[in-house]
Amino acid sequence: MVFLAQSRLLPPLLLFGLTFALTLGGILARPIESLSLFWPVNAVLAGVLLRHHRHANVTGIVLIYLGMVGADLLCGSQWRPALWLNLCNLGAVVTFWRLLANLPRRHRRLRTPHGVVRTFAACGAGAMVAASLACLMASPWFEQSLTSTWLAWFSEQFSTSVLVLPIMLTFPSLAALLRSRGQRIALSPLLMLLASLVVSLIFGGPGAIAFPISALLWCALSYSPFLLSLLTLIAGSTLIVAVAQDLMHFSMPQSEVGVTALMSARLGIAMLVLGPLVVACVSNANRALLARLEHQASFDHLTGVLTRSAFTRKANALLEAHRQHPDRPALTLMMLDIDHFKAINDRHGHAAGDQVLRECAQALQAQLHDGELFARLGGEEFAIVIPGLAPAQSGFTAERLRRAVQELQIAGGVAPLRVTVSIGISGCSEQRPMVDLDALLLDADKALYRAKAQGRNRVEAAQRQVM
Ligand code: GH3
Ligand code: MG
Ligand code: MG
Repeated sequence: MVFLAQSRLLPPLLLFGLTFALTLGGILARPIESLSLFWPVNAVLAGVLLRHHRHANVTGIVLIYLGMVGADLLCGSQWRPALWLNLCNLGAVVTFWRLLANLPRRHRRLRTPHGVVRTFAACGAGAMVAASLACLMASPWFEQSLTSTWLAWFSEQFSTSVLVLPIMLTFPSLAALLRSRGQRIALSPLLMLLASLVVSLIFGGPGAIAFPISALLWCALSYSPFLLSLLTLIAGSTLIVAVAQDLMHFSMPQSEVGVTALMSARLGIAMLVLGPLVVACVSNANRALLARLEHQASFDHLTGVLTRSAFTRKANALLEAHRQHPDRPALTLMMLDIDHFKAINDRHGHAAGDQVLRECAQALQAQLHDGELFARLGGEEFAIVIPGLAPAQSGFTAERLRRAVQELQIAGGVAPLRVTVSIGISGCSEQRPMVDLDALLLDADKALYRAKAQGRNRVEAAQRQVM
């Protein structure tokens, strides 16, 4: 087993085994002596080739073919139809894979409308190849006319691959799944989709396949492309089965070219999926962009600590929360400014100055706890808010912060750089009730000015504080 796990034989064996199992399942699930209602094997295998590049070579394709033929023979098929019919399936797999393999990753993972449209086109082309090969090579085994055979293969492969391939392409990695654990999922769009499906089935008729469109669009705006793909598979396959079982009274006489109600419904459902998928990837891209912009606005690009605007927002929220809890009115605000920082820039260059800012921020952050705010107000000036700590008791913490900077040895130039920081403290306590943020900042700034005036590398409290 250990040998197998480490050997290069395992991936090909897994691919063969997967193909064999999928094909076997597909054959056992289909009605006797007829083409299956769904044949998802081709789309699933194309998805595997697109997600796991090490399988995507000639050996992988041969193994897929052998797995398909092997499962078919095991189920009692004759040699010749097994060889020919599975060549049609293989044609679909190779077409899906080749048409999408060279797409840049973000398109291939359906993060862009371009990716969705290309995937649709690949599904159409793969279905055409399978249908054409079926007519060319396998027609002796079908009782229908050539056009009926072509349309049956095409409509089945197109609708099934459009419903299945997006799931394979957007399937989240294990790391992404773990990250999304605990995220709340809105239930209303899902409930509306289920309700619209039930109404479609009860109401019936050709128009009923359009009933779920609005619910699917709502799902597209609310869920990730992967979750949406799963829902479109559920909705699409429910409708296809309902039409095939004539539950929706969707009958129509076979047209002259051999189009049946089921073929028409399949193609209609495949096209119905395109809109919500495009909406899902656009709204997902917008959500990601908004999250990035919010992050950029909230966190300083150089040091990674809060920006002044995010600090102001959060500090005001803390002050408001404290105002509503008169039993815990204490709060300390510190302003910190690196001493003689201009001289570091002048002597060692701007890049060394940036490094000093980064390392000072890191050293200070390491001294703080969850729930305490730490921001870069601008230049070499930082602010810290410690809720629950009265300014009169904050001297020890401020000294610890000052020492953390003093002890830093920052690599750069011949000898390590050393810097110091001056700290001004203000805040509120029972003796000095809550004031607004601007007043606290002003007090801390005055204290900081005194720390500078009295020689730097020291801590001073606002004159109204009792230290
Ligand atoms: P003091 O001890 O009185 O605080 O003196 P100082 O030199 O630290 O203060 P001053 O206000 O004179 O200089 C601050 C310098 O910080 C000037 C500016 O060029 C530099 N600075 C501001 N932002 C950045 C930055 O992002 N990176 C670097 N490397 N330097 C910056
Ligand atoms: Mg300074
Ligand atoms: Mg300054």
